[in-house]
Amino acid sequence: MPRLFIEPDQIQEHQVVIGGDDAHYLLHVLRLTVGDNFQIVVPNGNECTAIIVKTRPQSVLAEIVEKHARNTEPTVQLTLYQAMLKGKNFPLVIEKAVELGVAAIVPLRTHRTVIRLSGHRAAQRQRHWQKIARQAAQQSERMTLPSVREPIDFSQALSEWQSDGSPGILFSARAAVDADCSLRRVLKELGSSRHLSIFIGPEGGFTAQEAESAITAGLQEVNLGPRIMRAETAAIAACAICMYELEQLDPVDVK
Ligand code: SAH
Repeated sequence: MPRLFIEPDQIQEHQVVIGGDDAHYLLHVLRLTVGDNFQIVVPNGNECTAIIVKTRPQSVLAEIVEKHARNTEPTVQLTLYQAMLKGKNFPLVIEKAVELGVAAIVPLRTHRTVIRLSGHRAAQRQRHWQKIARQAAQQSERMTLPSVREPIDFSQALSEWQSDGSPGILFSARAAVDADCSLRRVLKELGSSRHLSIFIGPEGGFTAQEAESAITAGLQEVNLGPRIMRAETAAIAACAICMYELEQLDPVDVK
């Protein structure tokens, strides 16, 4: 069944108004009509069934008929601080990270970041990335919409992370492959932590100076083994491993 994230102002009483791309999708791609059902995720994170009561060429009015009791959100809030990547790799990371359950993605400008975005273009790109996150969240049946922020500098990210107080990991291809930098060990030590921030570098990696300032700020430097991955591979692998290790699944949900 199609599934849409709804903004607070789309709901009036028990009805929801769908316009824009979502209306186009329901009416002209899926060809739904009066009496057809679809799912909505409302701002408090509840999932409901809505039934179409009226259609216009560019909008749909639907009645909210049933609230579902389920939650697909992970028990851990994972924030991915990801250096911006060239071409299709950044959208790829956003899509996969959202499917894997991240709560937020913060695009970073680092010393070796190739793409340079600021001002109007950064804001425009952020809206595009947020759209990708929205589609991925709808597709993977998330109950909340992960945010993709506007790009910030690495140094700003470090101070934000420090004030946020969550544990943090800097993934570095140059970190020693030894017990000190073992992801397995670091994640075991985090145990039942509810928040984690992870940092992944650009195509050329973090500079030694960046790694040093990250460690000084309190991030733990870890590696993903002796093979050097492309940044997008490392990001997806890091999200999957952290989620696997930290998410507490209810025993009845484990098949
Ligand atoms: N030539 C670069 C490689 C960068 S790989 C260098 O020598 O550092 C791009 C990013 O992917 C890195 O900044 C890191 O965050 C991540 N990465 C790639 N392979 C990794 C590994 N084996 N362990 C940890 N992080 C890795």
